[in-house]
Amino acid sequence: MEPFAYTKAADTRAALAAGQRGGRYIAGGTTLVDLMRETVERPTEVVDIAGLPLRDITLTPGGGLRLGALALMADAADPRVRTTFPVISEALELSASAQLRNMATLGGNIMQRTRCTYFRDVTANCNKRSPGSGCAALQGINRSHAILGTSDQCVATHPSDVAVAFTALDATVRLLGPDGERTVAFGDFLLPPGTTPDREHALRPGELITAIDIPPHPRPLRSGYLKVRDRQSYEFALTSAAVALHIQGGVVRAAKIAAGGVGTVPWRLPAVEQRLIGKRPSGELWAQVAAVAADGARPLEHNAFKVELLKRTVERQLRIVGGTE
Ligand code: SF4
Repeated sequence: MEPFAYTKAADTRAALAAGQRGGRYIAGGTTLVDLMRETVERPTEVVDIAGLPLRDITLTPGGGLRLGALALMADAADPRVRTTFPVISEALELSASAQLRNMATLGGNIMQRTRCTYFRDVTANCNKRSPGSGCAALQGINRSHAILGTSDQCVATHPSDVAVAFTALDATVRLLGPDGERTVAFGDFLLPPGTTPDREHALRPGELITAIDIPPHPRPLRSGYLKVRDRQSYEFALTSAAVALHIQGGVVRAAKIAAGGVGTVPWRLPAVEQRLIGKRPSGELWAQVAAVAADGARPLEHNAFKVELLKRTVERQLRIVGGTE
């Protein structure tokens, strides 16, 4: 680990000032400290924001939810989250061990960096860590890498589970910077690699995430998260599916679906959603719409299995959430 200065932000204003001069925000530290130990990250100043008053979880008018950026992953057990959007609770509970969930924050979770092993190996070529150096994963072991949203510069998956749920639910990220507050649609917040894989999010220098807003959705809303991984204990997704369905009068009226483990960012599945609207739930329907879940996929040498696995993951989660009434 390289030497660095440590600052504890007394309030939001002090945090923003430190962020403006290039300080890196830290809360739970469950990702950043690991990366600093491995010298993948070398901040000269770390700004501890864990004491800022950004942990509240509140119901918003009309049936939405505001999750403070410093709410812990463990706060997913909050009954207001579990009853309104179980897909969020399930995604968080499947993400990490209890110890990690009691340290890691929601803001940190969506900002976590890829688990690509070459990114974490400072001796490997990696455009994300060192722009222009190449991508060792393209010709290397790429079993866990992305099949959607890739570029010839980077094929790393985004590792967050709850980000998949936020994508499906049309969440908004609330940001605070020196020029005041602004909001960014979650679908625009995390950036696909393109030609600049080192640019991973829409944050401006020094901006602070203050909350994630989930808008109201038509009720009743059934939702849930399914994660497929190599082992049942805590592991990153090979594939996952966040599904939210509004079914009324025996017909699907609204469908919100996103996939994880397969994209360079959480991957929304509009083609699947559109094919569900106005249809009666049935096993046949779930299989039929899931067949297009991997359209546009570009598998690598070792991860072609994800194409079929993604379709089956989406079909299975539609069956779990939607039933076959
Ligand atoms: Fe780096 Fe992305 Fe290539 Fe992994 S996939 S080595 S993160 S450029």
